[in-house]
Amino acid sequence: MLNPLLFCPAGRNIAGRGNAIMTIHTDIQWLADRRTKIIATLGPASANAMTICRLLMAGVNLFRVNMSHGNHHEHGDMIRLIRRLSAEVEKPVAILADLCGPKIRVGTFAGGSITLNNDEKVIITTRDVIGKSGLIPSQYPKLAADIAVGQHILLADGLMELKVEAIEGTEVHCVVLQGGQLSDHKGMNLPDTHVTAASLTDKDRLDAEFALGCGVDFLALSFVRTAFDVKALRALINKAGTSTGLVAKIERAEALQHIEDILAAADAIMVARGDLGVELPPEKVPMIQQALITRAREANKPVIIATQMLESMIDQIRPTRAEVSDVSHAVTSGADAIMLSAETAAGLHPVEAVEMMDRVARYTESSLWYGGTFGSFDMEKTSRQGMPVTDALAVSTAQLSRDLQVKCIIVISESGTSATAVSSARPAAPVIAITAIPATFRQMCLLWGVQPVLIKPEELSNKVSLARFWARTYGLVQPGDRILLVRWFHQDPIKNTPSITILNV
Ligand code: PEP
Repeated sequence: MLNPLLFCPAGRNIAGRGNAIMTIHTDIQWLADRRTKIIATLGPASANAMTICRLLMAGVNLFRVNMSHGNHHEHGDMIRLIRRLSAEVEKPVAILADLCGPKIRVGTFAGGSITLNNDEKVIITTRDVIGKSGLIPSQYPKLAADIAVGQHILLADGLMELKVEAIEGTEVHCVVLQGGQLSDHKGMNLPDTHVTAASLTDKDRLDAEFALGCGVDFLALSFVRTAFDVKALRALINKAGTSTGLVAKIERAEALQHIEDILAAADAIMVARGDLGVELPPEKVPMIQQALITRAREANKPVIIATQMLESMIDQIRPTRAEVSDVSHAVTSGADAIMLSAETAAGLHPVEAVEMMDRVARYTESSLWYGGTFGSFDMEKTSRQGMPVTDALAVSTAQLSRDLQVKCIIVISESGTSATAVSSARPAAPVIAITAIPATFRQMCLLWGVQPVLIKPEELSNKVSLARFWARTYGLVQPGDRILLVRWFHQDPIKNTPSITILNV
């Protein structure tokens, strides 16, 4: 079951950056296992036992179940199937249920679509009608109340653009700035508008209660505006009495203004570049992505980069070079996880897409590892004054693992706090995170560089021998090697007494 080559030997001299600039190495030894985690969305192309098994073997760490499609019966079956297959093939995997949120869409048209011509005058109505040439129904009842004259409306992922000229009752009069073919149920984005619809819709509440009942590991909240939205879902999770992780999807410009509060309220964030790239000019998205990764890491919260990462693999067996660069860039930037959407949900090559993502991530990480760059991920943290205890211990762990050339870091984690803190410092040595709590075990699948291990509570009595045992079991140590044992991080400042122990094997 265990692969002795799971990680590169961390004892190798990793301070070789001087050599790296003399020549570009293309034949470096690959890390046998990835630090960056892969999330695959399930859908018609992959929601069957055979493909799920192949996806697990290809390296999926989390499955995303999209609540925008399908019904509770199908989702329940899917969640049970994933749990069964994960146990059968002995591959830990977490499940993230993605709530659809208040996605605004157009209604339906006689004939299925209409053509919008540049400079044409059109009306968007919130009346319950079938659309026709010049008349676009919208399913968002508060559209006329929320929007203002002069604001823009984007249709079909921003392919078409309208400008509001007048508002009369339920009718929003617009001029077409960029035309095109508009078909039934296409998305509508209001980039200039303060949308008053709550992120957590009535449907989301029902979906969340259902998913919590099924024991999912994470719930993702779409179109988050402020921490207030996050707290509404948190209240639902608390009411269910679970420790389900809460992922805030950052896809609205408004969320960027409240990012510190959102990060404090959520357990992780997802950079949902599909809608974000429509709400904001696309040229701004890469730097926002970078800033969000940095902020999330500073807050010790995992960050997921999502959408169109290997988009052309929906139809093609090979991705474009630009897509490969995008995946590699997300890894280099220090994302915890990278996500596939339609590639695995509806594409022709779901398994190959995961295999490709795995190869790109591993090759990129190997280059970073050899160049000694993992440690430089935490520059922001080390330059800050008056670092909090948790950050200081995490950074010191990463630093010690480099200075002492330790072969691995063993973290004992109850709620996942210790593993999250250590992971956020991106240490060069592999992290084995041991817990006796199944929910924590699965949630740690999201964390960068963390290999979760589930043990029985009674095995926790002697943590030093436990640490030595698991370092040996993973084939990471020889007699005389050193490892670090890290424990006792806690979210409550009073109970937060983290410690690092240096052990010889
Ligand atoms: C996105 O918009 O990028 C995203 C991940 O959300 P969804 O796929 O739910 O639209």
